[in-house]
Amino acid sequence: MSFRFLRPDSVSAWHNEEIQTRFSRYRDIIDDKEMARYLIAKTLHCEYDPDDSLQKLVKEFQLKANEFENLLKIEREQLEQREKVEKNFISLAELIAKKYLENCIFCERRCEVNRVEGEKGFCLIPQDSYITSAFLHHGEESVLVPSGTIFFQGCNFACVFCQNFDISQSWKGKREISSIAQQVDPKSLAGLAERLADKGALNINYVGGDPIPNIHTIIGSLQHQTSNITQLWNSNFYLTDEALTLLIHLMDFWLPDFKYGNNDCAEKYSGIERYYDVLTRNLKRIHDEGSGEIIIRHLVMPNHIDCCSKPILDYVVEEIPNSVVNIMGQYRPVYHTNRFEEINRHPTSKEMKEVKNYANKLGILWKPVS
Ligand code: SF4
Repeated sequence: MSFRFLRPDSVSAWHNEEIQTRFSRYRDIIDDKEMARYLIAKTLHCEYDPDDSLQKLVKEFQLKANEFENLLKIEREQLEQREKVEKNFISLAELIAKKYLENCIFCERRCEVNRVEGEKGFCLIPQDSYITSAFLHHGEESVLVPSGTIFFQGCNFACVFCQNFDISQSWKGKREISSIAQQVDPKSLAGLAERLADKGALNINYVGGDPIPNIHTIIGSLQHQTSNITQLWNSNFYLTDEALTLLIHLMDFWLPDFKYGNNDCAEKYSGIERYYDVLTRNLKRIHDEGSGEIIIRHLVMPNHIDCCSKPILDYVVEEIPNSVVNIMGQYRPVYHTNRFEEINRHPTSKEMKEVKNYANKLGILWKPVS
């Protein structure tokens, strides 16, 4: 692995004992002491027929989920004795995801369109998945770099301040995927992930836009990937309960955005309903039922300290205390922010300081990753 371009904090962050404790399994996968979840999932036999009803498939998946969680407690040496089986926990998850695609409920917009037959929902992403780039990212949080980051085209949000508007939504006016995007299927996506692993990535980081409309392709790619590398979900986290159930056991690390501390601000600036309710439901699940290894990304917005930043930090400390928070100052007035005077500027240093002081007062761990 080449460390030629590593930032100094990507090494020093690991000197923090809390970081070592909270991200212990991630560290062990990097050091090849533990196996990534998806590799273990391929050894778990599942009993199903592709023609089974969706209800029956989901029931089998839920039954196997308990067995899978028990497998995670087994020693590495024993796990290595287990062989990949054809009908496994991932192939079952992929089959269920493809059935959801016929009536798309991957995110809480619940468009219920048949993407297999060419219908398109809010995100306008068809059955196939498209990526705009895949590279070793050195600008992610200290403990994540170099991160094997794969950017998917399209998003289920419509944030007026989107910093990645070119790949998330500005192409939507033409109602077709931009020409810079490359179509991927599970096998070619796995090929990209493997090449990033070979180049020294510490994780495979699915982002966009947002990866949610591409859950079926991403889960499918896990069947073809072979490297012992952390799988990381980097998303707005507006997943349905059903979609999160498919992912929750397969991802090793979570990188959710937590933008708004209430439903109203989300509806105003991102066109999203029930944002806070959905986010807190999903964050609680990944903290309590998933790996629990989480960096919350909070983008501080101008004039939104009392309504968003502080309630978010209050929630984190009370409900998902093992999380680490990246307090982000990268907000810029771009895209359509000129429609809203109150967010049409950078956050001030006074606002940033107020949020950081509040996090300190609550005892939140943020400095090593911010
Ligand atoms: S992923 Fe796209 S089509 Fe599916 S529910 Fe969300 S916005 Fe609608």
